Amino acid sequence: MNDTANPQPVKALLGAGEIRRLAAELDLRPTKTLGQNFVIDGNTIRRIVAAAAINEDETVLEVGPGLGSLTLGLLDAAARVVAVEIDPVLAAKLPQTIAQWRPERTGSCDVVLADAMRITELPAQPTALVANLPYNVAVPVVLHLLERFPSLRHGLVMVQDEVADRLAAPPGSKTYGVPSVKAAWYSQMRKAGVIGMNVFWPAPKIASGLVRFERHDPPATTATRQEVFAVIDAAFAQRRKTLRAALAGWAGGAVLAEQALVRAGVDPSARGEVLDIRAFARIAEAKNPLSA
Ligand code: SAM
Repeated sequence: MNDTANPQPVKALLGAGEIRRLAAELDLRPTKTLGQNFVIDGNTIRRIVAAAAINEDETVLEVGPGLGSLTLGLLDAAARVVAVEIDPVLAAKLPQTIAQWRPERTGSCDVVLADAMRITELPAQPTALVANLPYNVAVPVVLHLLERFPSLRHGLVMVQDEVADRLAAPPGSKTYGVPSVKAAWYSQMRKAGVIGMNVFWPAPKIASGLVRFERHDPPATTATRQEVFAVIDAAFAQRRKTLRAALAGWAGGAVLAEQALVRAGVDPSARGEVLDIRAFARIAEAKNPLSA
């Protein structure tokens, strides 16, 4: 954490004018497909970086640095930033932006041109994920990175507000679903605020939400993660059905589903939306009685 007794001088961040100038220079037409909404407000960047609670010795993974708004803020707080960007024009420009705005930090940022949903290796082991995520792939990106990089201990992501609610939803709530349970395998997710639309260029049509997470151990189970996730997918594919019915295909029939649920200590007439990740792990484990 930065020393509050010796506050660092506030460093300049990219505002609306700089973002427009950079976009004009690159002849950039932001695309919806890549979720390109760039933050144009330094206070929002400061708020995200503060909420992420990064220590100064950390390596931060940023997905989708875009024009560098958040990257500059992260470089002020962390030891190193690994920035993974899919757009080659943006990835090529970022080192120049850092050289211009944070010349003293040019050696502390690795820019990787890659799809974050498929990335399997990084130039440094990240301890935190902090990102304004491309909205249409936010959940698969978070789940992929938590699975692939166990060194990620905590993080803060900005996503569509309704996706933030889903990621952080507890069992039994209206928004609880596949993203909530799968995220809970890896970590505790908590909503950390709402961000309005006018801090972006172009402005999205919906509000954004911040989600903070801390990694925890997955539930103790003999079932694999893939086996547990298969139960979750089956249970929520037919959300309104009882688990006995929803898991019939997964178990090889309603009777076998009922038996597995009873072995797992779960009421067969309950719905998936009331179960926590540990209950899903018990069901996966109970599919094969020999391993239960
Ligand atoms: N971080 C910047 C900011 O806050 O202004 C930009 C955030 S913008 C919402 C999302 C960024 O993710 C864009 O730069 C986009 O090109 C990039 N992106 C989209 N899909 C991606 C993917 N699969 N892997 C890596 N980057 C991606």
